[in-house]
Amino acid sequence: RDPKVAAQQANDMRNIVRRKLTGYVGFANLPNQWHRKSVRKGFSFNVMVVGESGLGKSTLVNTLFNTSLYPPKERKQPSLDFSPKTVGIQSISADIEENGVRLRLTVVDTPGFGDFVNNDDSWRPIIENIEQRFDTYLDAENKVNRMNIIDNRIHACVYFIEPTGHALKPLDVEVMRRLHTKVNLIPVIAKSDTLTDDEISAFKHRILADIQFHNIQIFEGPRYEMDDEETIAENNEIMSKVPFAVVGSNTEVQTPEGRKVRGRRYPWGVIEVDNEEHCDFAKLRQMLIRTHMEELKEHTNNFLYENYRSDKLTSMGVAQDPSVFKEVNPAVKQEEERSLHEQKLAKMELEMKMVFQQKVQEKESKLKQSEEELYARHREMKEQLDRQRQELEDKKSRIESGRPAEEKGRKKGGFSLRG
Ligand code: GDP
Repeated sequence: RDPKVAAQQANDMRNIVRRKLTGYVGFANLPNQWHRKSVRKGFSFNVMVVGESGLGKSTLVNTLFNTSLYPPKERKQPSLDFSPKTVGIQSISADIEENGVRLRLTVVDTPGFGDFVNNDDSWRPIIENIEQRFDTYLDAENKVNRMNIIDNRIHACVYFIEPTGHALKPLDVEVMRRLHTKVNLIPVIAKSDTLTDDEISAFKHRILADIQFHNIQIFEGPRYEMDDEETIAENNEIMSKVPFAVVGSNTEVQTPEGRKVRGRRYPWGVIEVDNEEHCDFAKLRQMLIRTHMEELKEHTNNFLYENYRSDKLTSMGVAQDPSVFKEVNPAVKQEEERSLHEQKLAKMELEMKMVFQQKVQEKESKLKQSEEELYARHREMKEQLDRQRQELEDKKSRIESGRPAEEKGRKKGGFSLRG
């Protein structure tokens, strides 16, 4: 916390004068104003369910919200088609109302997750979908009119763990490690009616140890500073059940005592989904819907989305001063600009050097070429001159060898030029 703000707050506290009012002024009505406004506006909640097919995701969502949001699924025969497939993303929304309060519920399912021979990239479409929702929100925030932004971000991700009773599977670890910085992760043990109480307890310990070992951050509920003891105890009670061992059922069955309950009937008795002695479904519902829905939304907005947003903006080149959230520090910006400028200059210098070297090389090779040409011409001319000299020499010797005969002939005829 900023020490200046803390000091100011401490000062304000010292200056608070507590007075009893003599009559009714009306600000005690503030919570009611807030309540009326919120009820009029309605609430929205987006929850994602991740887990292998058949772990009871749709059944649990229907049980949680007491609706048939998910129509019964067609069970397909297992396919022997080993060609690569991708995980799909399916989103279902419904407006549900309880005692005049409207809730727009969106459930995002990930059909196909963990169903393939190679599940290495199963997490990719899920992460892409979560980030896409953050991007849409970021775009909407940057528009001129940002009054009524529809919040499609995922507020909670219920991760279904197969009730093996052993440990987390490598796929679970991989996916949770990818998800935990983007969503509020809520792990649940699916179909926990298939395990005994002792098995559930041991499995929970093992899952929590694995989660801690792999540094996976799961949703921990609010960090109370000013809450009353009762609320803190309630929160601790809920959190002590994580990972929630859940059972889902939309059908009513009759208990041996004749009560009609939502549950599953077995030859040895009935499992009641809403009975806290039978499973943790009630605690999960309490956390998701009754006590922590606003907390999940706040944590998504203030922490998960904020981190995504600042990473995104930083990667886009918007500098941020770590001490002042969202504001640009001029000194840091100037330093960044200077280093950018220097980088640019160094790059230009390098380019100029390269161009210069290239030009020198070109000139050198041209010079070499003309030197060779000159040599060749010189050689040619020399050869030509040699030939001409040789010819002249030949001629001279021929002339010289022909002259005495001529002279003799002239003497014989008594003819002389000299007279
Ligand atoms: P999804 O593919 O994960 O959505 O699974 P479904 O909700 O379609 O459930 C698959 C099957 O498991 C159905 O036959 C359900 O009746 C059954 N099922 C769902 N929840 C539970 C549960 O908590 N315990 C048991 N034993 N079976 C369940």
